Amino acid sequence: MDFVRVSRIVEQTKVEGPGLRYVIWVQGCPIRCEGCFNPHTWDMDGGKIYALEDLFQDIRSTLERAPELEGVTFLGGEPFSQAEALSRLAGRIRRELDLSVVTFSGYPYEHIKKAEDAGWQRLLGETDLLIDGPYIKSQHDLSRPWVGSRNQQYRFLTERYKHLEKQLPKIPNKLEIRLHPDGTITANGMAQTADIELLLRLGYGRKEANA
Ligand code: SF4
Repeated sequence: MDFVRVSRIVEQTKVEGPGLRYVIWVQGCPIRCEGCFNPHTWDMDGGKIYALEDLFQDIRSTLERAPELEGVTFLGGEPFSQAEALSRLAGRIRRELDLSVVTFSGYPYEHIKKAEDAGWQRLLGETDLLIDGPYIKSQHDLSRPWVGSRNQQYRFLTERYKHLEKQLPKIPNKLEIRLHPDGTITANGMAQTADIELLLRLGYGRKEANA
């Protein structure tokens, strides 16, 4: 496929993986965890369709505007539901732009590794850091960066972020809030439930969180 079904894009954020990142929330998730922060990303037919070439060019132009951009993050929704297309985008991002790739998945790593699906294996092969496992409400824990429950794990699949393994406990989970010219506010990253409820009570935008 030459396209990806997308829920949302944030071109520059520092709260969805290491460093400054271009982030794509893909649309469509069959896992449907209880307590998911992003149920609006579940519908496999929702969101908006983007051509791979358009996404690549937008990432390239973001890098030109922000040379400190260090990578792209795929989250969702479930990135492995669109693995073939995302693997092709990831390959170009890594080889032509020298950017890193972080992929979130609600599937456990063991399940992904064993999957007999060439697209899944290609996306795994193009991922520097995989953060895997579904959100489990009873294991809710925001003490580690970028994740929402204790079962979720960091898989350093290449050398690119191996140095972070020991630093993880020192990296805080953060929420990034944007005020837009039309007066709306959107947020992404991980927040305490009270913070999210406060934002929703104030009627501001919507929160996007990680797998
Ligand atoms: S937490 Fe992630 S994997 Fe679970 S339902 Fe939500 S989007 Fe899907």
